[in-house]
Amino acid sequence: MSKKKKQKPVYFASARVLKWKQEESLPGKLDRLLEKMDLAGRLEKDEWVAVKTHFGSAGAHRIIRPVFLSRVVSALKAAGAKPFVTDTVRISGLDYLEIATRNGINQLSVGAPVVLADGLYGRDNILVKAGDILGEVAVASLIHDAPAMVVCSHIKGHINSGYAGAIKNLAMGGVSASHRGCGWRCGRGAMHSLGEGRLFWDEDKCQLCYQCEDICPLECITFGKEGKKFEYADERCWRCGRCTRVCPGQAIAHEEADPVQFMQGLAEAAQAVLGTFKPGKVIYVNFLTDIQPECDCMPGTDVPVVQDKGILVSDDLVAVEQASIDMLQGSPPLPESAASDSGLKQGDDILLELHKKDYRVQIEHARKLGLGSPDYELIQI
Ligand code: SF4
Ligand code: SF4
Repeated sequence: MSKKKKQKPVYFASARVLKWKQEESLPGKLDRLLEKMDLAGRLEKDEWVAVKTHFGSAGAHRIIRPVFLSRVVSALKAAGAKPFVTDTVRISGLDYLEIATRNGINQLSVGAPVVLADGLYGRDNILVKAGDILGEVAVASLIHDAPAMVVCSHIKGHINSGYAGAIKNLAMGGVSASHRGCGWRCGRGAMHSLGEGRLFWDEDKCQLCYQCEDICPLECITFGKEGKKFEYADERCWRCGRCTRVCPGQAIAHEEADPVQFMQGLAEAAQAVLGTFKPGKVIYVNFLTDIQPECDCMPGTDVPVVQDKGILVSDDLVAVEQASIDMLQGSPPLPESAASDSGLKQGDDILLELHKKDYRVQIEHARKLGLGSPDYELIQI
C-alpha cells in the first residue's frame, strides 16, 4: 500500500473583514496566524531573531506596513525571543535607513531595533557556498549569524522573475550587493548578470531623459559636460539593473541572465541563506496585499493589479510560495491598473501575462534543491 504524502500546513487569513472587531482585521488575524507557529516551542529564551523585510524606496510605499511588523515583533517577544527588524543595503546605507524611517519603519513603530543586515556600507557579509550557477554568495552577516528568522515577504510582480515572494526576498534580500574581495561577482549582481554584466548604451535610442543617472545608487552614470555622452564607471557598478529597468527606450542594456537562469539563481541564493539556520528556525509570512506589478526597490510604486488576498504563514518555503501563487489564480484584474490597461481579464494569470516570465521556475528549482514541498494543506483561520 502506497503511503500518502504528508501535506505541509499553510495557514491563511483573509483580508476581508466580516465583523467589525479589531481581532477580525488583518493585524488581529496575523496574531492568530503566528500562534499556529508555536514560536515559544521553536525559539530559545532570549534568542535573537531576524525579522527580514524590505524597507522600500523613496517612492515605493506599498511595502509591508509597520503595523504588521510590530505584530510579528510582539509575538516573538511574547515567546521570549529578542527580535530585530532588518534588510540589506540597496542604496547608500545611511540613505536607506532614512528611507525606512520615512516609510514608517523605526524602533518606535515596530517595537524592535531596525538595523541593516550587512552594515552601513553593505559590505558586512560572509561568503557561503551556493550552487552551480552562483558558486558562492555574500550572505549578510546579521542574517548569517542570527539563529532564527521570520521572513516577511510582500507579494508582487517583478520584471525578471514575474512573481516576487519569499524566495526572492531571501535571495536578493539576504545577499549583499557587493563583497570586499569579489565585489558584485558574489553579490546579488551575480544573479542579474551574465558574463561580465557590462552596460551598453545605444546613442540612437537614448532620449537623454537622465532617469538612469538619477536612479543609480553609486553614481556610476554621467552624461559628460554637454549632457549628451553616456559615461559609466564599470568598476564601481553593482550590476543591480536599476538603470536598465527605468530606461524608457531600451537605450541601455547589460549582459543579463536569462529569466530561467535568474530564477534558478534566486533559488540557489535562497538555499545559501537558509543553509545557516537549523531546521524549524525559519518562518515565512507572505503578505498578499498591495500586489503591485513591480519590485519594492523601484523608484515608485504603481497601483495594485489584483485585490488584497490576505496573509499566508508556514515553516515551509516552497509550500508558502506555492500557496501564494495558487491564491492569485483566477483573480480579476483591478480596474485602472497595469493589468486592466494590458487588456487582461478574469482567468488570466495576471503576473505571468504582465511580465511574460514563467515564475514557477523559481519555486520548482527551490523544490529540487530540497527547500520544501509544494504539497500543502491550506488552513484558514
Ligand atoms: S547596474 Fe546601473 S544602476 Fe546599478 S550600479 Fe550599475 S550603473 Fe548603477
Ligand atoms: S534612461 Fe535610457 S533614455 Fe534615459 S538617458 Fe538613460 S539611457 Fe538615455
